[in-house]
Amino acid sequence: MAIQQKINREIAEKALIPMLDLKAQYKSLGQEIEVAIREILESGHFVLGEHVRAFEREIADYHNVKYAVSLASGTDALHLSLKALDIKEGDEVITTPFTFIASAEAVAYVGAIPVFADIDKKTLNISLSQIKDKITSKTKAIIPVHLFGLPADMDEIMDIAKQYNLKVIEDCAQAFGAKYKDVPVGSIGDAGCFSFYPSKNLGAYGDGGIMITNNHEICEKVRLLRNHGTTAPYKHSFIGYNSRLDEIQAAILEIKLKHVDAYNQKRRNLAKIYTSLLSNVVQCPAEMPDRIHVYHQYTIRSIKKAAIKKNLEGNSISSVVYYPIPLHLQDAFKYLGHKKNDFPESETAANEVLSLPIYPELEREKVEFIAEAVLKAITG
Ligand SMILES: *Cc1c(COP(=O)(O)O)cnc(C)c1O
Repeated sequence: MAIQQKINREIAEKALIPMLDLKAQYKSLGQEIEVAIREILESGHFVLGEHVRAFEREIADYHNVKYAVSLASGTDALHLSLKALDIKEGDEVITTPFTFIASAEAVAYVGAIPVFADIDKKTLNISLSQIKDKITSKTKAIIPVHLFGLPADMDEIMDIAKQYNLKVIEDCAQAFGAKYKDVPVGSIGDAGCFSFYPSKNLGAYGDGGIMITNNHEICEKVRLLRNHGTTAPYKHSFIGYNSRLDEIQAAILEIKLKHVDAYNQKRRNLAKIYTSLLSNVVQCPAEMPDRIHVYHQYTIRSIKKAAIKKNLEGNSISSVVYYPIPLHLQDAFKYLGHKKNDFPESETAANEVLSLPIYPELEREKVEFIAEAVLKAITG
């Protein structure tokens, strides 16, 4: 019962419960990771080497797709996928305004116009009817985001894409390992984009990303784009970028990849406890029978969000609002000319959402303690 005592003591002493504890994961994998890093330091080979090649193969196999191209970030994965699909100035790309800015930023990078479609209030993912409303003759692609780890409505999105001849780029940054009808997200659209930012479900110790696809042409284009358009030594066929995952990050990710399913299962177990304790008083994340949600965030919704957040703070429990300002109301997208009320579901969500601590190493007793603090804030 030493662990139980430790948890009780931490709670009694009001030790901060963080949103995420990367140190706990390092504790369990540290030795193996340090050996791998040391080998690379001794090898003197840091960029585009055997670890990057092996990791790309493992990621492709994990998703049961033909190709994976590792990159410097998830944002680059979106950007270079759009470029590879020849989406450019004057084109329109439909995405959600209730996401991290990178989902729409990448569209702006290629000179295309991000066209927002409002979200579904239950799933917080892009709404199918709203997508259809936004399609014009200029629409070239849809970027569904599997927000917080819950897969978007991929069958219907692929049907719409087929009907209007649109490309689909899945933003899987928050959903590594999530499944839609037994199929891993990222393998359904034309391209799947992942981020290995440290806090993501599969996180590096720095920045990183990857694009997966079954399309050889897209794979080759992204592969060249990430390395200055280099087709032979010092021969550059077009203007590219420097966007490579380095060997050290690839080696770290190879080690973590072996554990990611177990980590996701732990997140799911904790989410189940939260939901069982909270579903009567707040809106809990949607669990859908045909999808595996990987709970990058455990995000509740309540009109009493402010009181909940305050009570959590009083109990040294972290909580964060993802995302307080929908993208259409961000100064960065002012040029799109949107105003308040253009996407009411996203705006209401922004006012009501609150993400609670969730990470594989979080103890279930703490989840119960956090849930109690939420309940107390509401029922007094
Ligand atoms: C993290 C994230 C990205 C960007 O990933 P980076 O690796 O940080 O560039 C894109 N989209 C979403 C939804 C994200 O959460």
